[in-house]
Amino acid sequence: MTQPQTSLPLSALEQNDAFISRHVGPSQDEQQAMLEALGLDSLDALINQTVPGSILLDSPLPMADSRSEQDVLAELHNMARQNTLNRSMIGMGYTDTIVPNVILRNVLENPGWYTAYTPYQPEVSQGRLEAILNFQQMVLDLTGLDLANASLLDEATAAAEAMTLCKRMSKAKKANVFLVDANLHPQNISVIQTRAEPLGYEVVVGDVTALIDQYEPFGVVVQYPGTYGHVTDYSTLIEKVHAKKALFCAAADIMSLVLLKSPGELGADVVFGSAQRFGVPMGYGGPHAAFFATRDAYKRSVPGRIIGVSIDTRGNKALRMAMQTREQHIRREKATSNICTAQVLLANMASFYAVYHGPEGLKTIAGRIHRLTSILAHGLQQKSINPVNDSWFDTLTIELDDAEAAYNKALSAGINLRRIGDTRLGITADECTDRLVIETLWDCILGEGHGLSLDAIDSELSRSNASGIPASLVRESAILQHPVFNSYHSETEMLRYLKQLENKDISLAHSMIALGSCTMKLNATAEMIPVTWPEFGQLHPFVPLDQAQGYQLLLESLKQQLIAITGFDDICIQPNSGAQGEYAGLLAIRNFHLANGEAERNICLIPASAHGTNPASAALADMKVVVVKCDTNGNVDIDDLRSKAEQYSEQLSCLMITYPSTHGVFEEGIREICDITHQHGGQVYMDGANLNAQVAVSKPADIGADVSHMNLHKTFCIPHGGGGPGMGPIGVKAHLAAFVANHPVVSIAGPNAENGAVSAAPWGSASILPISWVYIALMGAKGLRAATENAILNANYLAHELSKDYPVLYTGRNDRVAHECIIDLRPLKEVSGISEEDVAKRLMDFGFHAPTMSFPVPGTLMIEPTESESKAELDRFIEAMQVIREEIRQVETGLIDADNNPLRHAPHTIADLIDPEWSRPYSREQGAFPVTRLLTSKVWPTVNRIDNVYGDRNLFCACVPMDAYIEA
Ligand SMILES: *Cc1c(COP(=O)(O)O)cnc(C)c1O
Repeated sequence: MTQPQTSLPLSALEQNDAFISRHVGPSQDEQQAMLEALGLDSLDALINQTVPGSILLDSPLPMADSRSEQDVLAELHNMARQNTLNRSMIGMGYTDTIVPNVILRNVLENPGWYTAYTPYQPEVSQGRLEAILNFQQMVLDLTGLDLANASLLDEATAAAEAMTLCKRMSKAKKANVFLVDANLHPQNISVIQTRAEPLGYEVVVGDVTALIDQYEPFGVVVQYPGTYGHVTDYSTLIEKVHAKKALFCAAADIMSLVLLKSPGELGADVVFGSAQRFGVPMGYGGPHAAFFATRDAYKRSVPGRIIGVSIDTRGNKALRMAMQTREQHIRREKATSNICTAQVLLANMASFYAVYHGPEGLKTIAGRIHRLTSILAHGLQQKSINPVNDSWFDTLTIELDDAEAAYNKALSAGINLRRIGDTRLGITADECTDRLVIETLWDCILGEGHGLSLDAIDSELSRSNASGIPASLVRESAILQHPVFNSYHSETEMLRYLKQLENKDISLAHSMIALGSCTMKLNATAEMIPVTWPEFGQLHPFVPLDQAQGYQLLLESLKQQLIAITGFDDICIQPNSGAQGEYAGLLAIRNFHLANGEAERNICLIPASAHGTNPASAALADMKVVVVKCDTNGNVDIDDLRSKAEQYSEQLSCLMITYPSTHGVFEEGIREICDITHQHGGQVYMDGANLNAQVAVSKPADIGADVSHMNLHKTFCIPHGGGGPGMGPIGVKAHLAAFVANHPVVSIAGPNAENGAVSAAPWGSASILPISWVYIALMGAKGLRAATENAILNANYLAHELSKDYPVLYTGRNDRVAHECIIDLRPLKEVSGISEEDVAKRLMDFGFHAPTMSFPVPGTLMIEPTESESKAELDRFIEAMQVIREEIRQVETGLIDADNNPLRHAPHTIADLIDPEWSRPYSREQGAFPVTRLLTSKVWPTVNRIDNVYGDRNLFCACVPMDAYIEA
């Protein structure tokens, strides 16, 4: 008997560490049972067996104890309240927006949407694939181009991608100049310059309509409308650009495109921009989806993912990621972009905004924004203040004798304007702008008693049919004609559409998603709640710092947390994904060598097992990739490393290494590997994707890393969102701190002021940082250690149980794995013909999402259970794998046909079950309900296995016309 509750002291009843056992899945009893299965008596014993003694921490992390959810959220709310919620009319690519509540609650705040993984397993991802396809269709309609991708990280990185696409595709092969219009938003210019520098492109910024006559560029980019508000007809410029065999790119404002002639119709080759103002909060910089559209002819050169239409084995339409192996980072150093994690959740929100409002609703919103801007402009004109721009959609630039006074008056009225030099102000209207705002602005600029009547000006505009949009640029083409944008305008219909899509997908709300290297752990509700607090959502990234004190406190506190965990000296919170972190970290290394006068150091050593983003990022930083072999145990071949480091001693820039390795083991030689690199003047870049196995057990900086990214969307609980958002801040040792990214609009204390940006916003996707902060604060030192221990325990238990049926490919010391394990299906395929793909699809019949397939070793599955899964869930997964093994055995022994069996027909759908012609040598029950628990909780894949080849041969990346469904 335990002690009666009534006799316990208060301290035993306070439960300040209750969250630890909410986050860590296995109960004490379950942990004990798993340890016993492994022949161990404690978690410490497991860690000592698994982690090399030379890197093991000997003391707890220097951080506070675990705390209650209420306590942590109260502290965070106190921070959040120190942000000032002004109305921001700063523009520059970020505007206030109204998130439709039905989307806010049912998508952004809904784990069914936010905990899903990238749709690599399309049969259980049809819901979000449809939402992304809608996004692509929306982008095609608005940009007037042929092909759109499924989102990029932000507008500025899309601008850099546009530049490199121009370089690849332009027929002006000798050209090395990229012309950038001075009317681009400054952060777009900066990220373009950052990207161009290592690649050796010459970026010329100025008035491109004049520059085009002086240069032979490979590409030209403009902002449409310009950063100061002009709406310019670029048709003549585009002809000149094309005459020079160069490509023309437009950074476009998505809302303006509802009313403006599309850049595609004007002749643009690439159109990109931010979809933020389609119902995604500004969030002090992000996350938001960038869109990217181009000509069909350039489809193989498009960065990022593209969703396409294919068919399943029944011949029904089914969606999948098109050209999956074309996915940029998979081409390693031959890749043209390193993007992996993108912004799926936010792209989905933007597409749903368009679905909900429809073409007419969007025209009303865009029309209102434009009319309010015109009213503001005409009022000012009546008082002899003529906007500097004689055309506009939503932005006016005005010149005033005392701009500072007007700026300050607006500020005291709670309105942020854009300062442009000493004499000009920028004003951008948005969906939240109303009559009162316009009247307040008149008061601030003209002084009270100006006598203007909004209604009178409005009537006058209607009478004269005046508009800020030049006649030649008024949109005539239709938008969003597809039924999906014209069917769900009542909230009831919209709610059901969202739910219907959500129900097609497997997310963490259903079952474990054991994706090796991706760390699909719990995204606790307490961590998610602050994301949609207005104090975090409504801030423009370029507000004066004194309005963002809450965010600044959060950023500083998060930095300190990450420093305590990793041992680095400083953190750069700008990169929007792990791959962007790699790129940012490699740039810091590059600039460090340059500052030391060692420009020749450009060799990047990368083990063969590395994730494809590593070599892709190295190529972007103009490094030459030299591959280091792995030995038969999956470890870096230290002799090969030493000989290559010696061979390139004078040119060695760095080593990129993932730790624990992507083979799922703590390599014993890690310190030696780092030492060899340093001996030859190289820097160590540690890919931090596997940090979940290190937190509170070892520290990257202590092991020997000079710089490392942290995928906050893996180890630190930001949900995957179906393929993004993410955050990839980098930790650096002191000697690299001056060389990390800065920002052209908001200067960041620490790094050299002249450093360019790698992301559009100074602190990347700031509004999801509270998730990681809350996680770390809730767990405290003890909880973080428990998380790592249990991640390693769960992986070793799984490896131990699965090894009875499947060979585990690599193990480290004492035959232990780290936080993930690779099971090898090649020997079974040899004897049965059943492939890793068949196993992956069969797992869907059990309600499981497949683990990582064929990375880092073809023909294998990489399984990472994370600490959040209970033993009960692991046992369900093990049971599924055992049943599958039995089915393979039946094929092996000839008991069942090698091509007509439950594995090859997986996944099974309702269509299979009701098909009157069932001619298979197994029962319908075995097909769809291979274990009895499924009778009471079954996730139905809504399509049968999808034909990958068909989809790529018949590439179609837009919404399917309705008649195609009627035909089918
Ligand atoms: C996930 C991952 C990356 C890329 O990170 P993103 O956030 O997707 O850009 C890089 N390396 C490894 C080992 C990874 O698992």
